[in-house]
Amino acid sequence: MSSHQTKESNLVLVVGAGPVGMTAALALRNQGIPVAILEAEAESRLRPGSRAIFLHKATLQWLEEISPTLGFTMASHGVVWPVKRTFFQGREVYARTYPTPDPNVLPPFTSLPQVEIEKYLYQACIDRGVKFVWSARVHSLSITPEGVKVSTDNGQTYAAAYVVGADGAHSEVRHAAHIEMEGTRSANTFVVVDVVEDEENPLPLARVFHYEHPSVGGRNVLFVPFAGGWRIDLQLRETDAMEDYTGIEGVRRWLPLVMDKKYADRITWVSTYQFLQVVAKSFTDAQHRILLVGEAAHLFAPFGARGFNSGVPDAAIAAQAIRRALDASSKADADRAIESFAEQRHYAADYNRNAAGIALEHIQGSSTGMRAKRYIGAALAPAWHELGRWLDEGPYGPRSGPSATTKY
Ligand SMILES: Cc1cc2nc3c(=O)[nH]c(=O)nc-3n(C[C@H](O)[C@H](O)[C@H](O)COP(=O)(O)OP(=O)(O)OC[C@H]3O[C@@H](n4cnc5c(N)ncnc54)[C@H](O)[C@@H]3O)c2cc1C
Repeated sequence: MSSHQTKESNLVLVVGAGPVGMTAALALRNQGIPVAILEAEAESRLRPGSRAIFLHKATLQWLEEISPTLGFTMASHGVVWPVKRTFFQGREVYARTYPTPDPNVLPPFTSLPQVEIEKYLYQACIDRGVKFVWSARVHSLSITPEGVKVSTDNGQTYAAAYVVGADGAHSEVRHAAHIEMEGTRSANTFVVVDVVEDEENPLPLARVFHYEHPSVGGRNVLFVPFAGGWRIDLQLRETDAMEDYTGIEGVRRWLPLVMDKKYADRITWVSTYQFLQVVAKSFTDAQHRILLVGEAAHLFAPFGARGFNSGVPDAAIAAQAIRRALDASSKADADRAIESFAEQRHYAADYNRNAAGIALEHIQGSSTGMRAKRYIGAALAPAWHELGRWLDEGPYGPRSGPSATTKY
């Protein structure tokens, strides 16, 4: 094969085999559209950390809709914690227990590591005839009103009517379409740690948030169970020396202060983040041939779990729009279908960024007003249940999604 050979034309190409790219491919197959995914990494790659553990019910519903049984598969492999608890300076200010969910209906949420989520998405893709091209890093796109030519590092060029850009935060598709991101970066650093559970002697399943945990100098700590382990988030101060808290050695210094010391030998992943709060200026290009989804289109602070949870409707609604565009009787009608996807998901991303921003402001407590509210809330919580609930829900932002139709 020559080094610059054009492969067969595809109706639709997805760039990126992350969770959102695979969801987009499934949604396209559900619309009866053949699809191939171009992925930069090799098939044998190892994906890092728990990341998108928390799947909202709306996400499970979308997955069930685009790939029957997938929502229930995710739910049955994840965990639903029956208890949530919130502490302020070591004192419990809120606790709530939920009834055991009925396995015959989708639960209000499920928690399983992103590697597992990707495993089930991948299997569903294979079952539904999605073609994967591994080790195919996209390096350039030529976009015309007629379609897109996509060139990869391995010397191939692919033609498609539409390209779904699901290639993550540094999206090459977005760069090629000259679409910029707009937004800010959080000032605080968060250390995110995964530990594997001791199956013989597990901790009770509970999501626990500590404001100003006394054992770690008053820093906030969040514990989230997932199938097979726990994620622990520690919020650093702007003045903290990173090396004291990060890396395996840094984590081994503070983790035993907030958890049984056996977990210091059970660490599987440590990462450090300053979260971006950015949204693409547009979710499509001037020719209406590119559709941006997932982290290629938006990055949010993870509190409230709006990353993958909003990538799923991006993907599903992109597939619906492509179906309408392919069936349209004129280019103008086709463009309108793509534009409507872009507007709808841009609106949703703005909404989600603001919601994640509200959560971030609550957690950071960097304004005097918010700090005062948190102290007053904690002092009155024993007598005033609503204030305990406000403290419990604040770190995750508003409970709502952008609208009844877009879900998240
Ligand atoms: C600590 C943390 C916790 C989180 N918790 C949650 C949560 O609880 N719930 C939630 O919904 N979300 C959560 N998220 C967010 C979630 O992880 C992301 O939203 C999700 O991974 C985005 O998926 P994606 O498919 O858009 O991008 P990615 O997962 O980044 O996938 C992009 C894919 O594109 C490929 N690629 C990149 N460039 C190219 C190229 N040029 N050519 C071809 N392929 C390319 C990459 O190799 C990769 O496979 C969390 C994130 C973090 C960091």
